[in-house]
Amino acid sequence: MYEPEVNKTKDKILIVEDEEAIRDMLGYALMKEGFSCEEATDVDQARVTIESNRPSLILLDWMLPGMSGIDYARRLRSVPETRDIPIIMLTAKGEEADKIKALDTGADDYITKPFSTKELIARVKAVLRRYSGVDDSGVIEVNGLLLDPNTYRVTADAHNIEISPTEFKLLHFFITHPERVYSRSQLLDHVWGENVYVEERTVDVHIRRLRKTLEPFNFDKYIQTVRSVGYRFSAR
Ligand code: CA
Repeated sequence: MYEPEVNKTKDKILIVEDEEAIRDMLGYALMKEGFSCEEATDVDQARVTIESNRPSLILLDWMLPGMSGIDYARRLRSVPETRDIPIIMLTAKGEEADKIKALDTGADDYITKPFSTKELIARVKAVLRRYSGVDDSGVIEVNGLLLDPNTYRVTADAHNIEISPTEFKLLHFFITHPERVYSRSQLLDHVWGENVYVEERTVDVHIRRLRKTLEPFNFDKYIQTVRSVGYRFSAR
């Protein structure tokens, strides 16, 4: 069941890197910034860690023994359970084509070795922010549309919006998972919960209501229909 996160605890970062020196350096830099870290030297270890303790973000080395980071990123993106975990690729390759390949597989960002820890931390924070948009109070704001998961209140350009709990959850899910297309069944799993029996057209009903609620403030355009696939939230 999808519950809007309130007062987020420490973000967990999984470092998948076979070079010990780089792993240590990353772990140290991240922990100094208040992140908690897990480390894996290859994909097999990473898989075990993710199953027992889902990370907030994965730093994934491109060149790993066994399965490569790029193939693993592709695999993570293809499975519903891990599709939403942000990935930053670490790569020694500087070629533009490789960077594009990294982003094509579904990585959110890439960083080229050697890099400064300052740059790395900035990238990590930027990606996490892009995913959550959540500040310390849990309040999320996108272009004047503001959601407060503490009170379940929504305001648009400082006007209060009347919204039902389901529409709130749906909007919260969208706003914290922007730019990705979700099918009706994925939205049901995420917002209604996996073991709840609800017909897929229920999603359409709530999308319609949500758009109607947002329409007077012109935010309905953020809830986009992707034909024959599903829906997406985009503030672009
Ligand atoms: Ca490596």
